[in-house]
Amino acid sequence: MKPLCVALLMDNLVKCECGATIDIAGVPPRKDGIKVWCRVCGTVTTHHR
Ligand SMILES: [Zn+2]
Repeated sequence: MKPLCVALLMDNLVKCECGATIDIAGVPPRKDGIKVWCRVCGTVTTHHR
C-alpha cells in the first residue's frame, strides 16, 4: 500500500524562499501553476505540480 495520505500532505505544502511553508490544500491544481502568496514575507510563488 502506498502512503497516500503522506504524499497528499506534502503535495499541499509549498516552501517559500524565506523558508516558510504555505498550505495550498483546497487550491485546485493548474497547468500553468498556482500562485501562492506567502503571508510571512509577501512573496508570490508560482507552484507547479
Ligand atoms: Zn515567504
